[in-house]
Amino acid sequence: MLLIIFASVGACALATFSTAQAPPQSPPSQQQAPPAPSNQPAPPLQSPAPPQLPPGPVIVLDPAHGGTDNGARGQSGVFEKDIVLNMARTVRAELQSRGYRVVLTRDDDSNPSYDDRAAVANAFRDAIFITLHVASTGTPGTARAYYNQFWTPLPAAASSDADAKPNIPANTLNPWNQAQRGSLDASHRLADLLQLQLVQVFSGSPVTSSAAPIRELRSVVGPAVAIELSSVAVPNPESLGAAANPVAMAIYRTLTAFHPALPVGGN
Ligand SMILES: [Zn+2]
Repeated sequence: MLLIIFASVGACALATFSTAQAPPQSPPSQQQAPPAPSNQPAPPLQSPAPPQLPPGPVIVLDPAHGGTDNGARGQSGVFEKDIVLNMARTVRAELQSRGYRVVLTRDDDSNPSYDDRAAVANAFRDAIFITLHVASTGTPGTARAYYNQFWTPLPAAASSDADAKPNIPANTLNPWNQAQRGSLDASHRLADLLQLQLVQVFSGSPVTSSAAPIRELRSVVGPAVAIELSSVAVPNPESLGAAANPVAMAIYRTLTAFHPALPVGGN
């Protein structure tokens, strides 16, 4: 279930990059070992040296909902929040096995705020953000890819009234919840590539992506898309779990097409 933001409810307080948005800690593989005493030979490390991080983007997978927010619920009692978490873990394992760096916005039954989820991606210079949802409607066994659509133009460009107060200075930072504006073209391209792959593994899916105002996406600086499977209404919820591997393969193939220079494994 995607949270589509309509114009009437989209007036969140503008927020710049506040100190409350502390970036996540560096992954263990980026932490440095303490220096050895200068008058002694360096002791052996307690653990093997971390592998060299491969170049290329960090893939940030966002299992939507969590905690008290169950998301969509099927007749069998299955919750969207659990399906997408398991799916994200499967996709992570698949992408990591192919050389990608992968970070999850949650790896338990927590419910980070939208901005906290975006902050995970924004802590990296070259992140690609993918939020995972399962719809309560739609043709079972199909999947859609979305990119964000803003309902309104930038505030500085919105006013053509000569009596209006002076516009925001040109060098003003985009508000936090407008951060996606700079990557809309890239996100659109990523969503189209993703949709082409999704239709290969979920027949009956659309062949082009869709635009919608999606709250999870608009605060992300880099390319950001949503995947929504249909649906929790399937009579056998096991099929939703089985969808994780096809989703992983669709994402992998999309990433190689979106960023073909990546030094990743084969098929
Ligand atoms: Zn959802």
